[in-house]
Amino acid sequence: MIPYGRQHIDDDDIQAVKDVLQSDFLTQGPAVTKFEDIYKSYIKSNHAIAVSSATAALHIVAKAMGIGPGKRIWTSPITFVATSNIAFYLGADIDFIDIDLDSFNMSTEELEKKLVKAKLEGTLPDLVIPVHISGNSCNMQKIWELSQEYGFSVLEDASHGVGAEYDNDKVGSCSYSHAAVFSFHPVKIITSGEGGMITCNDADLAEKCYQLRTHGIHRTDEMKKSHGAWYYSMEDLGYNYRMTDVQAALGASQMNKLDQFITKRRELVEIYNKELSEILVTTPRESDDSYSSWHIYVVLVNEDKVKKEKKQIFDELLNAGIGVNLHYIPVYKQPFYQENGFEGYTLTNAEEYYRRAITLPLFPDLTENEIQYICKELKRILI
Ligand SMILES: *Cc1c(COP(=O)(O)O)cnc(C)c1O
Repeated sequence: MIPYGRQHIDDDDIQAVKDVLQSDFLTQGPAVTKFEDIYKSYIKSNHAIAVSSATAALHIVAKAMGIGPGKRIWTSPITFVATSNIAFYLGADIDFIDIDLDSFNMSTEELEKKLVKAKLEGTLPDLVIPVHISGNSCNMQKIWELSQEYGFSVLEDASHGVGAEYDNDKVGSCSYSHAAVFSFHPVKIITSGEGGMITCNDADLAEKCYQLRTHGIHRTDEMKKSHGAWYYSMEDLGYNYRMTDVQAALGASQMNKLDQFITKRRELVEIYNKELSEILVTTPRESDDSYSSWHIYVVLVNEDKVKKEKKQIFDELLNAGIGVNLHYIPVYKQPFYQENGFEGYTLTNAEEYYRRAITLPLFPDLTENEIQYICKELKRILI
């Protein structure tokens, strides 16, 4: 079976992890600080805070931004459930903005329409989370402009976008947002086994995130001087969301290969786009000002030309040894969401996307021959 995604681990990665295992630190220590330093100089953000996952990152940034009961979060319905689940962790309200079928990202027209309406109703959001699907950036200039006009925070879910660019800057440099989060799950662009990173430029926000990843605990030299060497102070309810040094060593080592991974992914996407008949499927495009990291390769089946049901297409591709996937089921369709206020809820483009989307395999070690096989089989099955 050709998987839909797969990590690439080399001898340097293995050696980096070995070195940590033979050092004094296993949990958060010097390797975490080193990974954070490498990350922020790559992204060109003032701060980078490593945590145990992107889910943890989303949770604590939103909390640090003051999200809690009575606050509202808006995001895209085409995302992993983690993005919107944090609203439930924090007791906040969640709502969704329909997507754009060219980018599969949150539609800024729909966002603006919804803001106009919410302003009249007094239900403006406190936080909007744009999700850069496959690493193709949302229209951040427009979202930022709207955030200034309507007064909400912007948190980019850049889980797919490690190394991606927008407007000639790395995604996560936060020119048009308050913070961004990244995932290092093995299917993503680089991996630390499990892990996440927060980037931001605001020192206060960063400080809150540092505290929230370690139980809300704060410890300074002044405190030690005035109270005693044992002293620490817990000022907010935090979590154990630390990254380990073992994970950070792997993450830092993977950073050496990040640009190569993206170059390779972009080459593979070009081959796919060339091989695939635009009659049967619509291939994905990069948005204006966006340089995608291509975490996933999603095609939309052209329903006027292909009569087969999606389930059958999936089964036939799987039978041909092609590990297709779907990113994502609109979040509001999940049973938990249905039971928590989203029964009967529907967004037109998200529904159409869900009917038509197929994620084909894409990872740095995928070969040109494998792509040709995948495309040949896909055409055979769709015709
Ligand atoms: C993978 C992913 C997450 C969660 O990342 P973890 O590191 O597994 O917690 C969140 N949002 C999106 C869009 C993702 O793809």
